[in-house]
Amino acid sequence: MCIFCKIVNGEIPSYKVYEDENFLAFLDISQTTKGHTLVVPKRHCDNLLSLESSLASQIFPIVQKIALSIKEITKAEGFNILNNCGEVAGQSVMHFHIHIIPRYANDSFNIQFSSNSFTNEELNDLAGKIKNTL
Ligand code: 5GP
Ligand code: ZN
Repeated sequence: MCIFCKIVNGEIPSYKVYEDENFLAFLDISQTTKGHTLVVPKRHCDNLLSLESSLASQIFPIVQKIALSIKEITKAEGFNILNNCGEVAGQSVMHFHIHIIPRYANDSFNIQFSSNSFTNEELNDLAGKIKNTL
């Protein structure tokens, strides 16, 4: 059984911040910033791509609600809402989860987007192919 399934069923303790029929949210053990929280579906699923779409559509209002509470309590000035999907993307626990990472001036968390250059034709072709595959 995966570590988050063990947290869901109470085998491993956690600092819970939210629970309903389908979801649990608890403090991330790393606390990369104060209030760093994970939201997980109770039923195991490996990642976003295998998440039932009805659960996918329920999770964002929960993330929003928790972020609002964290903001009130910690006075966070912003958030990064993050999902690592797949090992190559940095996913280390293979049970789908959304990170709510509160941000504070001068905190030590950092995400850097690098830029690549593609021609207009390449981008047009790429966007068209993705669109046609939806
Ligand atoms: P990922 O790298 O898969 O996106 O994120 C996994 C997260 O789970 C990490 O931020 C890590 O700190 C957190 N984590 C791993 N094991 C535990 C645990 O036993 N309890 C809690 N609360 N968080 C955990
Ligand atoms: Zn699991």
